[in-house]
Amino acid sequence: NVSSSERMASHPMQRFQFVVVGGGIAGVTCVEQLASDFPSAEVGLITAASHIKAVANFKQVSQTLEEFDVEERPSSVLQEKYPNVTVIQSAVRSLQADQHTLQTEDGRSVGYEKLCICSGARPKLLTQDQPYVLGVRDTDSVQEFQKRLSSAKRIVVVGNGGIALELVFEVRGCEVVWAVKDKAIGNKFFDAGAAQFLIPSLEAQRPPRDAVCKRARYTTEQGPEGGSDGGPEGGLHTFTAGGDRRRPGSGSTGAGSALGPDWHEGFLLRGAEESPQGVRVEYECEVQEIFTPSAPLRPQPEADYGAWPVYIRLTNGRTVGCDFIVSATGVVPNTDAFLQGNNFSLAEDGGLRVDDHMMTSEPDVYAAGDVCSACWEPSALWQQMRLWTQARQMGWFAGRCMAADVQTQPIELDFCFELFAHITKFFNYKVVILGKFNAQGLGADHELLVRCTKGQEYVKVVLRGGKMVGAVLIGETDLEETFENLILNQMDLTPYKDELLNPNIDIEDYFD
Ligand code: FAD
Repeated sequence: NVSSSERMASHPMQRFQFVVVGGGIAGVTCVEQLASDFPSAEVGLITAASHIKAVANFKQVSQTLEEFDVEERPSSVLQEKYPNVTVIQSAVRSLQADQHTLQTEDGRSVGYEKLCICSGARPKLLTQDQPYVLGVRDTDSVQEFQKRLSSAKRIVVVGNGGIALELVFEVRGCEVVWAVKDKAIGNKFFDAGAAQFLIPSLEAQRPPRDAVCKRARYTTEQGPEGGSDGGPEGGLHTFTAGGDRRRPGSGSTGAGSALGPDWHEGFLLRGAEESPQGVRVEYECEVQEIFTPSAPLRPQPEADYGAWPVYIRLTNGRTVGCDFIVSATGVVPNTDAFLQGNNFSLAEDGGLRVDDHMMTSEPDVYAAGDVCSACWEPSALWQQMRLWTQARQMGWFAGRCMAADVQTQPIELDFCFELFAHITKFFNYKVVILGKFNAQGLGADHELLVRCTKGQEYVKVVLRGGKMVGAVLIGETDLEETFENLILNQMDLTPYKDELLNPNIDIEDYFD
């Protein structure tokens, strides 16, 4: 039992010009930006997890749309690539912003000139300490989910964001009851019309999934079934994430980074039932209560009291028994370690407020990714959403702002914050969302144009004052670049409104 003062004594203060906390996509991108901009500066990355997340195969699809893969790599990869980077693998325990120092869980003191906090967010659980309620965030939590699913006959998924959408679609061999608080599924990403377009995909017979991961994940762990494939960094080993190998030290502490866009691809999400069981959506309801059969004097569930390990009572009056509940109701920014003794301004969602230089309210402290809340006056066509792409953009821009500040150079808000743009896949359809895709903040002051071909495509355009301000494109529409241009150049489309979604007109040629 080593006391913390003894541990401190064994670790003299380490000082860096730049310190970044968090080895997720925001933190790693920020470190890479700083390390390459300032090869002579010492850059420290403090991260709780043993692996970092790196962007791979980055592709600029259009002016604002980007696509990339994410690779989980040992942190040594970063130090090998950038000799001026030092990675400290430990969680930050406290921050003394006035002294420009941090303390880590393993007893180190770290000094900085400029600090960027990129500690991400954790799932907002419906209830704490309830063994039948799971959150999904990192590789370990998905593995736990997968393990419990393998013996489950019915699960309840609560939430209507991207994770819930993907999860209900991916699960096979298990009945899924999906509780959403809105009138339609996927409210965060699109409207009721798009939801209507997607619902048949949930009802259709879905083919079984392959058990093997489609993209490589990298681990330092050696194992016979992983085999060496000479991955990008050579000498590393891939593993098929469908297996149950856990990284040493990663435990279930929740310290890992959030998963990437194709997080479910490596996991076989199969329940205990042979036949496909389908999804039942419970609309416009929230969770009233979660209880187990042993709980005294509970309201009687429908018919099967005692048959299930846990019951969930919804505000629509229904009680559903299930094997376990997945809580996918959003995230809470990981700020706890940084708040005590400091004066951070927090946004309503609990994030560290940042200005258009990604600066928090504490001097020399920046923040990026899921942990921060963008509190600058945004462009009329942009909003923050806690997404992979924005984590990369913010980490990169925070690095540039930190560099500009030490060089006392001015820096403008980057163009990537001009237009909200996101590309993803839901229910096997390509989904592109642009600008005010859900007419957010427009009130009644907008007009919608919609084109829909069942099972093929759904196109929605949001117009304000005759100008395009947002779009939802589902399927292979090939319209994203043209629509992005029309949104960015704010051309008056009033004369073309009738032709805009005419499938017989090549809209790209039209506006060339
Ligand atoms: P994270 O990736 O969470 O990284 C945070 C890092 O900080 C971690 O390395 C952690 O170990 C470290 N850390 C935390 N606290 C401390 C501390 N006290 N001291 C030191 N280190 C600390 N986005 C999309 O765009 N598309 C998707 O399809 C998509 N699907 C998703 C599916 C799931 C299941 C989840 C959970 C998220 C998904 N997201 C998706 C969101 C996306 O993953 C996040 O927005 C993104 O990963 C945020 O990156 P980040 O770097 O800010 O945080």
